[in-house]
Amino acid sequence: MRFNRRTVLIASAAGAAGAILPAGTAHAARADIGVSAYGFPLTAVRLGAGPFTDNTARTHTYLRFLNADRLLHTFRITAGLPSTATPCGGWESPSTELRGHSTGHVLTALAQAYAGTGDTTLRAKGDYLVAQLALCQRPNGYLSAYPESFIDRVETGQQVWAPYYTLHKIVQGLLDWHQLTGSAQALTVLQRKAAWIQARNSRLTLAQRQQMLRVEFGGIGETLFNLYQLSDDPAHLTTAQYFDHAQILDPLAANVDALAGFHANTQIPKAIAAIRAFHATGDSRYRDIAVNFWNFVVRQHSYAIGGNSNGEYFQAPNRIAAELSDSTCECCNTYNMLKLTRQLFFTDPGRAAELMDFYEKALYNHLLGAQNPNSAHGHHCYYVPLRAGGIKTYSNDYDNFTCCHGTGMETNTKFTDSIYFVNNTILYVNLFISSTLTWPGRGITVQQDTAYPESPTTRLTVTGSGAIDLRIRIPSWTSGAQVRLNGVLTGTPTPGTYLSINRTWAGGDVVDVTLPMALALELTPDNPSVRAVKHGPIVLAGQFGTSNLTALPTLSGTPQPTGTPLEYTAGSVLLRPFYKTHGQRYSVYWNVTSSTPREARYLFDEASGTTVADATGNGWTGTLAGGVTRTTGRSGNAVLLNGTNGHVSLPAGIVAGVTAYTIATWVRIDTAATWTRVFDFGTGTGAYLFLTPRSSAGTARYAITSTGSGGEQRINAPAALPTGTWTHVAVTHTGNLGILYVNGAEVARNTALTVRPSALPSTTQNWIGRSQYASDPYLTAAVDSFRIHSRALTAAEIAQLHSTGQ
Ligand SMILES: [Zn+2]
Repeated sequence: MRFNRRTVLIASAAGAAGAILPAGTAHAARADIGVSAYGFPLTAVRLGAGPFTDNTARTHTYLRFLNADRLLHTFRITAGLPSTATPCGGWESPSTELRGHSTGHVLTALAQAYAGTGDTTLRAKGDYLVAQLALCQRPNGYLSAYPESFIDRVETGQQVWAPYYTLHKIVQGLLDWHQLTGSAQALTVLQRKAAWIQARNSRLTLAQRQQMLRVEFGGIGETLFNLYQLSDDPAHLTTAQYFDHAQILDPLAANVDALAGFHANTQIPKAIAAIRAFHATGDSRYRDIAVNFWNFVVRQHSYAIGGNSNGEYFQAPNRIAAELSDSTCECCNTYNMLKLTRQLFFTDPGRAAELMDFYEKALYNHLLGAQNPNSAHGHHCYYVPLRAGGIKTYSNDYDNFTCCHGTGMETNTKFTDSIYFVNNTILYVNLFISSTLTWPGRGITVQQDTAYPESPTTRLTVTGSGAIDLRIRIPSWTSGAQVRLNGVLTGTPTPGTYLSINRTWAGGDVVDVTLPMALALELTPDNPSVRAVKHGPIVLAGQFGTSNLTALPTLSGTPQPTGTPLEYTAGSVLLRPFYKTHGQRYSVYWNVTSSTPREARYLFDEASGTTVADATGNGWTGTLAGGVTRTTGRSGNAVLLNGTNGHVSLPAGIVAGVTAYTIATWVRIDTAATWTRVFDFGTGTGAYLFLTPRSSAGTARYAITSTGSGGEQRINAPAALPTGTWTHVAVTHTGNLGILYVNGAEVARNTALTVRPSALPSTTQNWIGRSQYASDPYLTAAVDSFRIHSRALTAAEIAQLHSTGQ
C-alpha cells in the first residue's frame, strides 16, 4: 500500500483482495472465455496435517476472536448511525484515510473460512457484517467508512490516500460472501455499490479517469469483471473498463518492461484485472498484458523467495543483489502474484512448468513463512526483509490492520484453492500438500498423504472409481523423479512437465511420487557471487540469532546435511527453511565467490516452458527468448531457434573470471547465413567471445576480444559449419592455446590466444544464437547439449563427446 504523505508515520503499503471465483462456477451467468482448467470449490478440498493447516487454524482463531462491531464502527459513524464500539487502531483508526479496508478483507477471509469448515459461527459473523453494512449504505449506493468527499478529492487530483483501493476490499468481500455462502443480501449491497461506482465514473471524461487512476485503486477492476461474469449486466463490464489504466497497460501490451520506478502492488492488480478481462471479453490484448507482466515480474523483478519490490517499488530489471533491504518483498505483492499465476494457469495449463514452479516457490518461501507461528491469532509480516541480518516483524490484533495483515487473513484461509485443478476428466495435482479432494458429482475422492517438503515423496490414494487422466506436476528443479502406480513404476517423469496416468481407476488405487531434491544455489542476475541456498524448491536461510550483520555472510564450501530434513550447516551457521525462520536474524543471500564452478550443461530436454535447466546442479538456469520451440534433438529434445529473434540467454557471469575453458555443443544449422552466432557471450560490441558458423571469409570462426572488433583474436576454421545435419563443435582454451574442433576432430588452432574471459568484464549478454551486433542475423538452427567447462578438455575428451553424442 503506497503511503500518502500524511500517513507516513504509520507503517507502509497494501494489496488487492483475493477473489476465489471458481472459474466455471455453476451460478455464473457467463462462462469464462479462453479457459481450459478450473479450480475446485473450496468446499471440495480439506487440508490434512501440516504447516498449512497450522497457519489456517491460527487465522480461523483470529477470525472468531475479532469483534464485528469494532470493524463496523467507522462505517456507522460515517453513515450517521450510533456506535459505542472501541475504535480499531493502526490503518483502521478513525483518522486514517484507508479505514474500512480490513472489514472487506475480514469478509473475504470469513467466506473462505466458512467454505473450508462449514463453521456456523463464522457464517453468523459474516452475515451480521453484511446486514450491518447494508444499514450503512446510502440511498445512492455509496458504502464506506470514510465520507464520499474522499472520492471528490481523488477525482480532482487532490491529496487523498487510496479511496478506491479501500472500496475494492469491500466489494470483493461482498462478492466472496455472496459466492461462497449464497447470501442474497451481499449481492444486493454489491449491485447497489457497483451502480454507484458506475454513476461516479460515467460523469468523468476519459482524461479525468486516467488522471484519477494514477492513485492506487487495488483490484476494483478485477472485482467488477468478476461481477460481470456473474451478472451478465453490460453496465458492470463498462464500469470495470473504466479502471483500465493506459499508462501501465499500454507498455505491457507492447511487451515493454517499463515497470521500474512504479509502486509494485499498485500495478499487480491491474494485471489480474486484465486476465479477468480476457476471460470476460476474449480480447487477446488483455491476455497479452497479463502474460507479459507476469513474465517481467517473475523473471526480472523477483527474489529467490518469489517476492518482489524494494521499498514497495519495482526496480530496474534484473537488479536483485543490489536491492537487499529491510523493506523487500511486501506480502500483498506475492498474494497478488499468486492470484495472477492461478488465472494464467486457467488460461494455459500447458505452461504449468513455469507457472506452478513459481507458485510453489512463492507459496512456501514467502507466504507460508510470513505468518508468525508463535501467535495464536496468525499475526502477519508486512515486508519480508532480505537484508543480511534481517528479521521478520509481525502485525497484532487491533493496532496494525495494514494491507498485508488483511491479505494475510485471505492467504491463510485458501491454501486449498491451488492444489488440484480440473478439466472434465483431467485432474491436475499441482502442489504436494496433505489434503483430501472430494470430486464434486463424481463419487471419487483423492487423498494426498505427504510430509513434503521435509520428505520428497507424496502418496495419492483414490476412492471410488472412474476415468481420470491424472496429471502429476514434475517440477523443473527435480531430477530422477519416480512415479509408481500400485507399486509399479509408470511413465517417464520429465522435469517441467506433467506425468499423465490416463486410465479407469478403482477404489484403493495408490500412486507414489518421489521427487528427489538436491542442494542448489540460485543466482542473482546482477552479481554472480550473490546466491541463495535451496534444497529442492525450499530456500534455506542462515540462522544468526541476535547477531545483526553488516554484510552478506560468506558461504565457504558445500553446506553439510545435519541429518534433520532440510537442515544443513555452513561452517558454524545452521541453515534451515526460510519458511520456518522466525524470531531471529537471518540471511537468505550469501557471498559465494569462491565456490561455484563456471560450469554448466544444458540438455534442453524440457518439453515446455521458457527456462532451461543446468544439469550440473550449479544453478546456471538459462532462459529461452523470442521464437524458440522444442524439436527432437541429438539426444532427447533440442531447442529450435527461428532465425528472426529466437535465442537462449544464459546467466550473467557464467564465464566471469575464467582463464581456461571449453564451450561445446551440438548444432544443426538449418539456414546458412553469414555472421550468425552459435554462441556469443559479451557485454555488447566492446567485449565478447563468439563462434560463428560462417564469417565474411566464408569459414567458421571463433573470436575473443576485450577491446572491440579491432582487438579480436581468432581461430579461423578451413570451412563453414555444415548445414542440415547435426554437427558437434567445441572450442578449448588454456594458456595461449585455443583449438577449434568440428565433429570430434581439431580443424584449427591459435597458439597466441592471450585474451581470456578473465580479461573481459563479467559478461551479461550470454547468448546462444544471437550476436552482440544488432545487425547480425539470428541463427536458424536446432541446438542440443550445450556445455561449458572451466578447463580445456583434451582432444580425446572432445572426441568422446562427439562419438557418444553427449
Ligand atoms: Zn501489503
